[in-house]
Amino acid sequence: MTEFTMATDADGVATITWDVPGKSMNVLSLAGLAELNGLIDAALADAAVKGVIVTSGKKDFAGGMDLNVIARMKEQGGAEPAKAVFEGILQFHAILRKIERAGMDPKTLKGGKPIVAALPGTALGIGLELPLACHRIIAADNPKAKIGLPEIMVGIFPGAGGTTRLVRKLGAMMAAPFLLEGKLSDPKGAKAAGLIDEVVAPEDLLARAKEWILAAKDTDLVKPWDAKGYKMPGGTPYHPAGFMTFVGASAMVHGKTMGVYPAAKALLAAVYEGSLVPFDTALKIEARHFTSVLMNPSSTAMIRSLFINKEALEKGANRPKVADQTVKKLGVIGAGMMGAGIAYVSATAGIEVVLIDAAQDAADRGKAYSEGLLDKGIQRRKVTAEKKAEVLARITATTDYAALVGCDLIVEAVFEDPKVKAEVTAKVEAAVGPDCIFATNTSTLPISALAKASARPDQFIGIHFFSPVDKMMLVEIIKGKQTGDRAVAKALDFVRQIRKTPIVVNDARFFYANRCIIPYINEGIRMVAEGVEPALIENAAKLVGMPLGPLQLVDETSIDLGVKIAKATKAAMGDAYPDGAVDAVLFAMADQGRLGRKSNAGFYAYDAAGKRLGLWEELAAQYPLAEVQPDLTQVQHRLLMAQVLEAVRALEDGVLTDIREGDVGAILGWGFAPWSGGPFGWLDIIGAPRAVAICDALEAAHGARFAAPQVLRDMAAQGRGFYDPAAAKAA
Ligand code: NAD
Repeated sequence: MTEFTMATDADGVATITWDVPGKSMNVLSLAGLAELNGLIDAALADAAVKGVIVTSGKKDFAGGMDLNVIARMKEQGGAEPAKAVFEGILQFHAILRKIERAGMDPKTLKGGKPIVAALPGTALGIGLELPLACHRIIAADNPKAKIGLPEIMVGIFPGAGGTTRLVRKLGAMMAAPFLLEGKLSDPKGAKAAGLIDEVVAPEDLLARAKEWILAAKDTDLVKPWDAKGYKMPGGTPYHPAGFMTFVGASAMVHGKTMGVYPAAKALLAAVYEGSLVPFDTALKIEARHFTSVLMNPSSTAMIRSLFINKEALEKGANRPKVADQTVKKLGVIGAGMMGAGIAYVSATAGIEVVLIDAAQDAADRGKAYSEGLLDKGIQRRKVTAEKKAEVLARITATTDYAALVGCDLIVEAVFEDPKVKAEVTAKVEAAVGPDCIFATNTSTLPISALAKASARPDQFIGIHFFSPVDKMMLVEIIKGKQTGDRAVAKALDFVRQIRKTPIVVNDARFFYANRCIIPYINEGIRMVAEGVEPALIENAAKLVGMPLGPLQLVDETSIDLGVKIAKATKAAMGDAYPDGAVDAVLFAMADQGRLGRKSNAGFYAYDAAGKRLGLWEELAAQYPLAEVQPDLTQVQHRLLMAQVLEAVRALEDGVLTDIREGDVGAILGWGFAPWSGGPFGWLDIIGAPRAVAICDALEAAHGARFAAPQVLRDMAAQGRGFYDPAAAKAA
């Protein structure tokens, strides 16, 4: 397969065009790298070639590395995967360094051939690391293009020289948002930040690249770090200003990551150590740290869940094979918090929306929510006035069900009351055509029971959004007993249109996400009742990578909602209800008017403006601290296992049918320790035998809710993991 081609024009300018066949976006494979290497060698050796343009045959330059490359390098290493990975990385470095030196004399730095990266659009990851090795980066003025190094978002860091080059180009401080936060810019922003050199009109891109090549002098080809007397912008660690940067960066990164993400730490180490040595040594240091990150099971797990499997689910991995179900006209019933958000994300995605509420002013308020968000977008220069007008014109706010004519999907988000929902279902079905799919956004009511109100239960489904709708990327699609394939396909096609990530689960109490998050909150509250120091509970959660401790989380979602759910669960379960100890605390808090953030009082204290101050001091008086406190790991095991065992049970019960959905859903739905790749990813990292041992110890100390599920015992006995049959053994 040819991924790179080269053609040389009459003026001696060779153009290397990257165009991976059969893909809409270029990604770099090992075969592609070898082709590029061969073409660069040929261009440097050919006396007729004066300079080289590296560009793309597609509308974008490149989306990054083919992440399967890493797995392949490890496999090829056999018993020594780290060695193979390290050598593989050095190969990347050697080729990019060859481009950078471009045949120049190493002493005089003369005689090299100019090599220009001409970027028509998006350039991410290796798609920017390669240009950073070229002598000039020119981008087309394409405001939709994204330029940057997003590696950190999937648990790795730019390891093909991008880290070392960017830090030497911009200085550690200015490079930090791009390396540590994976910040992406449009071409103009990238130029302003110094990431690239020039932005030109798209039609002038290649002509300008050629012009630069033909005018380039020897000195234009020498990178600052290869020139005599180079000093790193902002200073190295032993320079006073540099010292402040590095101390501050370490503290900031640790504060944000709590030390659980190996990539952030390794990146900082590579930058710090690399800045003290010459460039080529720095590259080697970068390669060593990069290897250590790639060998860490966390990076494998993060890449798997946050990149490969997330994309697979978005592309319809579990979509039934029925004809395209793209939504053309959407009806949203209930213009409250959720309905308003659903209307906004749908209209923004280009879907015509009818937004209905019981009273016109409520419907109008729902539409005004979109206006508010669009205005914020205008303030941040992300939205234009035309775009705002366009989106608002797509939303019809009304009380009239007749406006639903022509809708092919309805999402109902009225009060969480089966009677109200049943009335709405009947009213909608009387107004829409026979093919329209009806979805409920209920968070607690079983779909199969709500479907009884429908004349077409095969067209009835759950589409469960998370709050706030515009920010939360997960959508949980729930199949009732009678839900048919077309309804599932409709829901999946809708989620694809609004660019969110779907998981498809079967109907059961609390579906998947809430089923796992409630035991997490309950375990935290249970510990308060036992006299565990509340700060220990909260910090233990954060130190294991949870975004919020369980007590802060229940404050955010509201304590009275917890009370309501507890009462409903108890009514449904009767004597088998296991959470009496939790309820004692929860109900007492609610009785004191401490409902969480919304009442400015909960497990935390808040000031009058609603700012969270710290844990409520009275808590210790009401729930005296135990004399002996558990250690950090014990608390973390309880908090993690409370969620993870519920995920495993959801799999055993058939609520989850695909562990990929369990992991992606956990990270996107409730922020489950992303470094672990999700609950199943975490179990594979620690290995089934250790997981069973932890469960056995927790069960002995705290009861049957921690009993190890049979599937884990089986895996422990057979040396298997959830993803990789060998994972348990390796761990
Ligand atoms: P909300 O109270 O903010 O909004 C409900 C809206 O429905 C109100 O505007 C109300 O006027 C309208 N409504 C009530 N009865 C109606 C009727 N018969 N016809 C038309 N409109 C009617 O509630 P919400 O938080 O937006 O929740 C709505 C649904 O979404 C509930 O089923 C809830 O369980 C679910 N949900 C909520 C969340 C959350 O975090 N709030 C998350 C996921 C799902």
